Amino acid sequence: MATTADYYALLGVPRSATDEQIRSAYRKLARQYHPDVNGAPDAAERFKQITEAYEVLTDPQRRQRYDMFGSTTGGLGDFGIGDLFETFFGGDLRRREPRGPMRGADLRMEIEIDLLDAVEGRERVIRVPRLETCERCKGSGAEPGSSISTCATCNGRGEIRQVQQSVFGRFVNVSTCPRCGGAGKTVDKVCTRCRGEGRERKDREITLTILSGIDDGQQLRVAGEGEAGMRGGPTGDLYVLIRLKEHQLFRREGDDLVHLARISPAQAALGDEISVPTIDGGEAKVHIPPGAQNGQMVRVRGKGVPHLGSSGRGDQLVYLDVVVPRTLSKEQRRLYTQLRDMEDPTSQDGDQDLFGRIRDAMGGS
Ligand SMILES: [Zn+2]
Ligand SMILES: [Zn+2]
Repeated sequence: MATTADYYALLGVPRSATDEQIRSAYRKLARQYHPDVNGAPDAAERFKQITEAYEVLTDPQRRQRYDMFGSTTGGLGDFGIGDLFETFFGGDLRRREPRGPMRGADLRMEIEIDLLDAVEGRERVIRVPRLETCERCKGSGAEPGSSISTCATCNGRGEIRQVQQSVFGRFVNVSTCPRCGGAGKTVDKVCTRCRGEGRERKDREITLTILSGIDDGQQLRVAGEGEAGMRGGPTGDLYVLIRLKEHQLFRREGDDLVHLARISPAQAALGDEISVPTIDGGEAKVHIPPGAQNGQMVRVRGKGVPHLGSSGRGDQLVYLDVVVPRTLSKEQRRLYTQLRDMEDPTSQDGDQDLFGRIRDAMGGS
C-alpha cells in the first residue's frame, strides 16, 4: 500500500479541500473504482488507494500529520474498505445484520412422581439451575453507570469483513468481531456480577402443574422457563420428563390399576365380599363369585387413573390370589380333612388355562 502517495492528487482535490469536498470526491471515485463495479485489473488497487486517502484526510489528526510529514503511520487495513463503501452507498456488499437477539437454550430435566400425584394431579415445586438475565446489569453486560458504545472495530456490525484479492478473484471473508463478540457494542466497564455476559447462573424454583392422568415417559413443556436469551432474545422453554415411582399396592397399566387381593381357598370356593384399598386412600367392595379361581380378575369400575385430557377414569383390576394356608389349627385340620375326603378335584372340569392365569396373577402382561 502506498503510504506516501499524494492523497490530495489521488482524490483530485486541493490541499485546502474541506471535508465535504473530500467526501464528495471520494464518493465519485469510489463509485468508479469499486471492484464490484470496475473490472479493470488495477481498479482494486486504485480503490484501496483512494479509500486510504479518504480515510486519512477526513481524520483531522491524521490529516494534520500527513500535511506535516507527507506520510501517516499505519495504512488502512483491508477490511475497512467494504465498510466504508457501505457507509456511503448503503450496502453494495452483501450485508449481514449485527448478531441480533439470541433465544435462550431449552432446558430438560427429569422428575419422579408418586402414582398418587399422577392420579390426583398436583402442583410441584422443582428447583431448576439455569442462566438468567443478570440482575445487576439487566442483561446489558455493562456495569451500572458505565456507558455502552458502538463497537469501534466493527462499527456496530458485529462482524469483520476482509476483502481479499487473489488470482481466483475477489473474496470477502466474514468473521465475528473479536472485540465485541458479535454484539456490535462495547461497554466501558463490564458488569462485575456477570463479567459482561449479561446472564448469571441461578437456582430457580418453578411450580409445575402435574396434570391428573399423566404417565411415565411423558414430557411437560413449560414455556419461557428455560434459559434467558442474549441481547434481548426470548427465553427458552423447560421440558420436564415424568418418571413414575413404583407403588407397593398398585401397578399401572394404561389408565387401569392392577391390584392383587389375597383370599383363602374357602373364600374362593364359597364366594365372599371383601374390601380392597384404592389408590386415593379409600376402600372398595369387591364381590368374589362362588367358585372363583386363582388369578381370576374382578373389575372395580372407575377406581383407576383419570384419563389425561378427558373425563372419566380407568378401572381397578383386582386379581384374586388364592393363598393356601401353610399351617393349620387343630379345628382347621379337622375340617380340611373332611373336605379332602369328600372332594375329588379330578372329577371337575380341567383347567386348561391354568398357566396363563398364573402368569396374569404374577403380573405378567
Ligand atoms: Zn451483569
Ligand atoms: Zn465489534
